[in-house]
Amino acid sequence: MATMESLIGMVNRIQRACTVLGDYGGDTALPTLWEALPSVAVVGGQSSGKSSVLESIVGRDFLPRGSGIVTRRPLVLQLHKTEPGVQEYAEFLHLPKKKFTDFSNVRKEIQDETDRVTGKSKQISPIPIHLSIYSPNVVNLTLIDLPGLTKVAVEGQPESVVQEIESMVRSYVEKSCHYSGDLILFMETRDLQGFVSVFEIYATSIPGKFSFKYFISFASVPLIMDKFLVLGLQPNCLILAITPANQDLATSDAIKLSREVDPAGDRTFGVLTKLDLMDKGTDALDILEGRAYPLQHPWVGIVNRSQADINKNVDMIAARRREREFFAMSPDYGHLAGKMGSEYLAKLLSKHLESVIRTRVPGIIVLINRSIDELEAELDHLGRPVAIDSGAQLYTILELCRAFDRIFKEHLEGGRPGGDRIYGVFDNQLPSALRKLPFDRHLSLQNVRKVVSEADGYQPHLIAPEQGYRRLIDGALNYFRGPAEASVDAVHFILKELVRRSIGETQELKRFPTLQAEIAAAANSALERFREDSKKTTMRLVDMESSYLTVDFFRKLPQDVERGGNPTASSVDRYAEGHFRRIGSNVSSYVGMVAETLRNTIPKAVVHCQVKEAKRSLLDHFYTQLGKLEGKQLAQLLDEDPMLMERRQQCAKRLELYKSARDEIDSVSWTR
Ligand code: GDP
Ligand code: MG
Repeated sequence: MATMESLIGMVNRIQRACTVLGDYGGDTALPTLWEALPSVAVVGGQSSGKSSVLESIVGRDFLPRGSGIVTRRPLVLQLHKTEPGVQEYAEFLHLPKKKFTDFSNVRKEIQDETDRVTGKSKQISPIPIHLSIYSPNVVNLTLIDLPGLTKVAVEGQPESVVQEIESMVRSYVEKSCHYSGDLILFMETRDLQGFVSVFEIYATSIPGKFSFKYFISFASVPLIMDKFLVLGLQPNCLILAITPANQDLATSDAIKLSREVDPAGDRTFGVLTKLDLMDKGTDALDILEGRAYPLQHPWVGIVNRSQADINKNVDMIAARRREREFFAMSPDYGHLAGKMGSEYLAKLLSKHLESVIRTRVPGIIVLINRSIDELEAELDHLGRPVAIDSGAQLYTILELCRAFDRIFKEHLEGGRPGGDRIYGVFDNQLPSALRKLPFDRHLSLQNVRKVVSEADGYQPHLIAPEQGYRRLIDGALNYFRGPAEASVDAVHFILKELVRRSIGETQELKRFPTLQAEIAAAANSALERFREDSKKTTMRLVDMESSYLTVDFFRKLPQDVERGGNPTASSVDRYAEGHFRRIGSNVSSYVGMVAETLRNTIPKAVVHCQVKEAKRSLLDHFYTQLGKLEGKQLAQLLDEDPMLMERRQQCAKRLELYKSARDEIDSVSWTR
């Protein structure tokens, strides 16, 4: 059986973890545990006596006082009962290990800590201050002191402050059972299926109205309806609604707010302060006996120290005694004396809080486990944080480069598309470019005659025009440079495109825009170098064809036959024309043979210089440079999107919170 101390102590520890790890509930994209935890919030108008009630529950005075708005940040006050005779002390979450035994220093620290966040101005802030008090004179309880509800902004405050305070107070008291306003129902199907399992049914809720979207399908099994254990309909926050007795109940801010957020009144504790200040002849019995404004829990009347008492430094122990006497001696309230006063209120709250915690814990466990799953999934998706030491960073960078390189290779070798386009260059583009070369024009009768005649000089050639052939062939071979160069460029652009795609497809790289850009730049400059090399090699192939002609080809050509008789002028012309045509067609078939050779050798050169090199050593140069980088430069390569880093940090923190909360709950036994 979990004891009361351990239950409230557990919630206290989880609440402190929430503040340390930045969970104050409210608007956040992250699941919040804070809002799932039961607590007691003190709500009331300014000067209704909120801080006084807190102090008398604690039995010490330690809260900042003054006129106007003094409480400007929520104060989460956790009371821990200690063994009798042990020295009382207080401790702030933001000042761990510092024990305050002088409570006037506590007050000063609350003031200073408020100002630290809000500035000296009258601004308010929702970030709570956590204060723990360890004392034999308290009961285990967590209370939250909130800024007083107010109607007007005072000097130095923005007009919006009235609204801000109200929504901050609401954010505490409207806390629903778990985050995002959902509703959890638990269904036990022990009888139905022979084993115990818990179903969570989430339904969207507009405050006060629940849509039973999922409920319907289960409700169609009426037999199991009574097995529904409905949790979470009731928000977690107990409301300590403070109203001064010398004020009309109808105008009480506390009652107005609690009636709104807790219409059934089952988590509102009505507290009537300043009973000693009521006009002579009037009493508050109608309220205290539950007739004027009935709540599920009995009203508690309180007599705090007056301002005069505070000024005279009347101590709390004396004040408590006086309060006891007030009720015991009172002709009006004497019969209620056992159920009045701050000590009674403290015990009442503690007992109730404990039972609320007990019912909430199963729901909180479900929430914790689900949130842990969600956060871990998101963290997996975001990737692990980058290592800090440069050795590990270098390792990470190399891993990322290799991941990219693997994908790039898959594109080339198959598995991923793109490599086939290189074959397309060799199979279509190059042959069709070769076919389109303007050899017809180059080897026209007219041009052949011109080139051959020019090569001969003043004396026409006697047998075969050696120089003419050479010039015609040289001229023709020059045309091959164009298609050779175009093939190199075409493959270059395909490789570049594959680099771009591979970077996009390397999931691991997505987080690192800087490294992405660096890899792209390194790969592209390597490709540029391969292109230069490939160009040189293919040009050389073309040049080689012109440096040494295939002799055999010409030896095999049939020689011109000598003709007898006296040739007439016209027959000489006809002879010359046929002669030049033959030269043209001989050169044309030689060039055709070379084209065939180049159609085969250019792809070999391109693959050798560009494709194979890209596969083998695309990032080699980059790797060498990486080795020379300093730690700081390595870290820069692993710069991530700041939004993503932020998100990961938040998720990790929240995950830590949920895990420590799970440990806390595990440490308390739940056998019932
Ligand atoms: P808060 O603004 O709601 O926190 O109110 P405080 O606790 O600061 O109290 C406002 C003033 O009312 C202080 O001067 C208190 O001394 C005084 N006060 C509060 N409760 C009582 C009470 O029960 N009786 C008397 N006589 N004065 C009270
Ligand atoms: Mg106050």
